[in-house]
Amino acid sequence: MNRRSFLRSSVAASVAATPISQAYASLYSALTTVNSDLAAVTGAGAEVSLERAAVQELADSLRGSLLLPGSDAYESARRVLNLSIDKHPAMVVQPTGVADIQNAVTFARERDLLLAVKCGGHHAAGKSTCDGGMQIDLSKFRNVRVDPAAQKAYVSGGSLLGEIDHETMALGLVTTAGTVSHTGVGGLTLGAGFGRLARRYGLACDNVVGADVVLANGSLVHVSPEENADLYWGIRGGGGNFGVVTSFEFGLHPMQRTVTGGEIIFPIERAKDVLRFYAEWSSEAPDELYADAVAMQQAGQDSGVIMIHVCHSGTPEQAEKDLAPLQKIGKPIANGIGPIDYVTIQSSWDSTDPRNVGTYLKSGFINEFPQDLADRVADGIELDPNRDTMLFFQQSGGAIGRVPADATAFAHRKSISNMFVTVSWPLDSDPEPHVNYIRRYWDTLKPNTDGWYTNEAGDEDSAESVNANYQGNYERLLTLKNRYDPTNLFRLNANITPTV
Ligand code: FAD
Repeated sequence: MNRRSFLRSSVAASVAATPISQAYASLYSALTTVNSDLAAVTGAGAEVSLERAAVQELADSLRGSLLLPGSDAYESARRVLNLSIDKHPAMVVQPTGVADIQNAVTFARERDLLLAVKCGGHHAAGKSTCDGGMQIDLSKFRNVRVDPAAQKAYVSGGSLLGEIDHETMALGLVTTAGTVSHTGVGGLTLGAGFGRLARRYGLACDNVVGADVVLANGSLVHVSPEENADLYWGIRGGGGNFGVVTSFEFGLHPMQRTVTGGEIIFPIERAKDVLRFYAEWSSEAPDELYADAVAMQQAGQDSGVIMIHVCHSGTPEQAEKDLAPLQKIGKPIANGIGPIDYVTIQSSWDSTDPRNVGTYLKSGFINEFPQDLADRVADGIELDPNRDTMLFFQQSGGAIGRVPADATAFAHRKSISNMFVTVSWPLDSDPEPHVNYIRRYWDTLKPNTDGWYTNEAGDEDSAESVNANYQGNYERLLTLKNRYDPTNLFRLNANITPTV
């Protein structure tokens, strides 16, 4: 009997024997017994049968867990934030370290399995789960270590954004994250990473100074400007196309605890004026000022609001001056802008996530904001108390736009904003009318867009449009894909299809 089998049988015996054994059982939660062969699918969609003994060997090779259908842990791992996506992987590997990830990737590659990698599970089209393949769920692979002297944070690949802010701000340091604290560092950073400090310090991916990546061949490589510089370029905007990033090394910046931020809110009937004001005012903003415009109607309400959300990270005096024009828009329903703790504002939008509902999203970058776009945005919102509609302009520009388009794989540097519309509906209702409404609405806005955020790639995007969206960086990305992932193991993303 080998050590793992011994542990499994002795843990099983002790579980039956004493209550205290429950503590031991949880210590050895990694020990899964595989009772039969597993039906699975390959990346190309072919059905395959995985031998029981091979799956057992994978389970035994892990310090973390192998989860199979039927357990609560499997149910929660397979789920993503968008609950209208209801996929069932054949198995879930929940690694607790790099070696587990290497074993899982090797197992999947040797069998051509469909492979999903999940960090925060926020991808709107559910690219981090799958039917019939293997899911690597990084939720037990979270850690942030800060080196204050070097002004760097080392962040495990499954971590959530709020974990970075929590640890770095305790030491008076910060890096760009996103605007919702439970978004995954992995997906957000690999695609770009827009956040409240991005206009000042660049995108999340611009702050990556190194990373560790498990490649499709199972090897672990370090990437930085000095080491594997080609791949270092590719992971900063190329998404999860090249491997599983097990650790990010972020550069940090000194940061005061208090910023000026919050929302000024108006009735939806003021949408045209507010958006026209926003278009002009935000175009002149200094780097310290981040401002989003958001139109929103929530289920159960027969009216909506239009708001401007700001985060000013300059001095209070500078903030007062830069935010003064907001007073000229007219009388708001509410004005909550004031001094606020940075970590607090970073989670102030957490409750806007679409939990317990299905969601559909369309998005595109805009390079200018003409007045007639403001009018079409305002005219196109159809208020309906049975769903949530949200239209969002997430501000770009500043330091983001000063990075050349070919300096990282993320090409959309001239964008001034990511414009996106989402609709959310209760899971027990028919999604079709809601999805059709957003498609109709989007048809009126899309002519103003130039490409879209790879982190919001939908299943409807053709391979050609995904390639074209990488703009001038596509050929270089294709070379990397052919070299590092020729069999397209990592395909559930804004996929660069290999051509070798
Ligand atoms: P997941 O669904 O877990 O993963 C998304 C993709 O990344 C998948 O293809 C997955 O395989 C891959 N991936 C994840 N981790 C790794 C890893 N370690 N190694 C390799 N591949 C990996 N974007 C912004 O830029 N700024 C925002 O402020 C912002 N706010 C958002 C708020 C909400 C509520 C939501 C739902 C989304 C938001 N987004 C924002 C979009 C966000 O960037 C994408 O949804 C992104 O994909 C989320 O990453 P994740 O790790 O949570 O997602």
